[in-house]
Amino acid sequence: MSTKVLKLEEKSVASPGIAIGQAYIVPSRGTHFPKYWITDKEISSEVSRFKQAVLKSARQLAIIKDKLCRFQGKEQIQILESHVLLLKDPMLNDSSIQIITDSCINAEWALDKVLAQLKLAFASMRDEYLRERKNDIDYVGRRIMSNLMGQQEHGFKELPYPNTIVIAYDMSPADFASLPRHQLAGVITSVGGETSHMAIMARALEIPTIVGFGDITSHVNEGTQLIIDGNSQQIHIQPDKSLLTLFKRKQRQQRAATRKLLRESRTPAVTLDGYHMHLMANIDLIDEIPMALEYGAEGIGMYRTEYLFLNQLDYPSEEEQYKHYKTILKMMKGRPVTIRTLDIGGDKLFGNIEEHLNPALGLRAIRLCLKEVEIFKTQLRALYRASPHGQLRIMFPMITTCDELRQIRSIIREVHAELTRQKHKFRHNIPLGIMVEVPSTAIIADQLARDVQFFSIGTNDLIQYTLAIDRTNEQVSYLYQPFHPAIMRLLHMTATAGRQAQIEVAMCGEIAGDPKYIVPLLGLGLNSLSMNPISIPRVKKLIRSQNQRDAIRQLESALLAGTADEVSDHFPSGD
Ligand code: PEP
Ligand code: MG
Repeated sequence: MSTKVLKLEEKSVASPGIAIGQAYIVPSRGTHFPKYWITDKEISSEVSRFKQAVLKSARQLAIIKDKLCRFQGKEQIQILESHVLLLKDPMLNDSSIQIITDSCINAEWALDKVLAQLKLAFASMRDEYLRERKNDIDYVGRRIMSNLMGQQEHGFKELPYPNTIVIAYDMSPADFASLPRHQLAGVITSVGGETSHMAIMARALEIPTIVGFGDITSHVNEGTQLIIDGNSQQIHIQPDKSLLTLFKRKQRQQRAATRKLLRESRTPAVTLDGYHMHLMANIDLIDEIPMALEYGAEGIGMYRTEYLFLNQLDYPSEEEQYKHYKTILKMMKGRPVTIRTLDIGGDKLFGNIEEHLNPALGLRAIRLCLKEVEIFKTQLRALYRASPHGQLRIMFPMITTCDELRQIRSIIREVHAELTRQKHKFRHNIPLGIMVEVPSTAIIADQLARDVQFFSIGTNDLIQYTLAIDRTNEQVSYLYQPFHPAIMRLLHMTATAGRQAQIEVAMCGEIAGDPKYIVPLLGLGLNSLSMNPISIPRVKKLIRSQNQRDAIRQLESALLAGTADEVSDHFPSGD
């Protein structure tokens, strides 16, 4: 059989690179769902099952959206926002509940009926954009349906070939995260965009990935040999021997170039005048840890525990969390691991999904934990129990007042007493730190510094709250200005307060991994920067080419500037 070449559109290449492997066609989830009649008595529990599934879907989307916001995937954020809106649509909710109640049928059956009506209504619309919305209904409908049926998103334990190119209609981020890396060469999906969450993950994990290809299965069978060439936007089907040899050579060359960068990344980031900036990794999933180490992370600067709560209707148990934290600590073999306690908004977890008017200003992060103390205690107990297995540090998000810290300390004392009574081994003196991500926190940093062992500046939120811009609203994204003089002053206040109190000051917001901001951060005298692992080699290289003394001088004059552009002028391109 001769080689066939499929041309790709540029935007289909979600993650570039060369993949050589055999096609594994993921069976689609199928459209089967249970249909049965219910009795009058069962109606209320069936309605509540439906509401729970919608709530769970909203929570999943909220977490995905939250992660996307950090990567500025604007298009996809809008799509997700439209999905969240659809979840709240009375047409979908009220109609499904009404059908369950009036027709006495199970929730899956009622949902299917409503979805069919909605799709029909959209499909007949004149406007192409509105017609396209039928895909959104499909997506949202499938999510609610699988939550109703208790289907797990994590679907892959083993892949069939040593180098597998996974071919799927669509892939959720959680499914993507569960693909075994050692057998995975690449991914091709029929639907999806380059800014989809799964695509972002693919780039972070450097897996060559093609999205939105359409029906690839009309060209490819199970086990077919394939080459994905993301660089020249082609897929080669059944490549002949000479093509295979050529691409294997290209792949080797690429790997050698990456290895060189990685080798250089093993040594620390020390400036020309001897200042050591510690570079750490921001991690959301355990799977990212081997890569963080490979990319030269000296530790984990922020482990976002939100993902542990994804895909679960109930909160993860103490035992489940303990095992998870222990695994992370063991994988990091004595390197520092900063685990951030749950940072999630109240409306994402509790009650109904009616939106609070200002969720970012509401019951979020530590506020939620101090209200729902049992959830917080469970997490703290698990963390302390895991503490003997490595160098754990605990970090609290969204601290706004000194009182919150006092409350946390008192809860920790209770946790210690309980663990001691129950004869659990744990370390009492784990370093405790706070995120500085609310302006009030930066302003009273000198007070807070007395009570903690470290600060970690979260610029994603600090910018949102200081410049009064919703970080998920792209209409105001032009105001996302890390160089805004107000931000620069708050960073400076925080760094100074930390230095004077002799505690460590780190940064884990997105700008910590962006070359544009590295010189000012050196000038601030931060102790460590935590970032997406993939940015570490580049940032290390840049730091090695700088003098910290020059950076301090540049920062001093930048702090006198009146606009973001003027601040920026003091730091000619850092790349
Ligand atoms: C931040 O706010 O900068 C931060 C690192 O936390 P998150 O992005 O998780 O809110
Ligand atoms: Mg934050």
